[in-house]
Amino acid sequence: MEQTFIILKPSAITRGLVGDVLLRFQRKGLQITGMKMIKLDEAILREHYAHLVDRPFFPWILSSMMATPVIVMVLKGKDAVNVVRTMVGATNSRVAAPGTIRGDFGMSGQENIVHASDSHDNALIEINRFFKPEEIFDYTLTTIDALYAPDEK
Ligand code: ADP
Repeated sequence: MEQTFIILKPSAITRGLVGDVLLRFQRKGLQITGMKMIKLDEAILREHYAHLVDRPFFPWILSSMMATPVIVMVLKGKDAVNVVRTMVGATNSRVAAPGTIRGDFGMSGQENIVHASDSHDNALIEINRFFKPEEIFDYTLTTIDALYAPDEK
């Protein structure tokens, strides 16, 4: 099983969408293996968004992501990275497909509710960036036999 890293951004916290987003992930069958509320600072955001630090909108990302605490989480499931990216939708919420989290809950390219890792390798890096090993839990999901065929587990 693969793990992926999620941030419920200040737009989700402020707008009271935490429960709606979590409900979607849980109904899908993803297992929460780590979750906590933290305050992001500039240093960790420069690392996390290193690919965007030279873009003109980067200062807005900083202030937006530090506006409130965020909830970070690790979700586990078969092909979890791609499954979650598909559920999250395109970066710009206005063009994200209906049925996706951004497509259903947002109107902004920046205030787009949720971050999700974009590859298996980046998921490992991001999980290590935000979680200590002892903050990730390995427990049995009792619904596993109903969620997957024997060769999918
Ligand atoms: P994604 O979050 O879909 O993986 P990126 O890694 O390209 O997308 O961007 C990271 C975050 O930076 C986006 O989720 C969004 O909050 C913000 N962002 C990206 N592009 C823009 C833009 N053109 N203007 C404002 N904010 C942006």
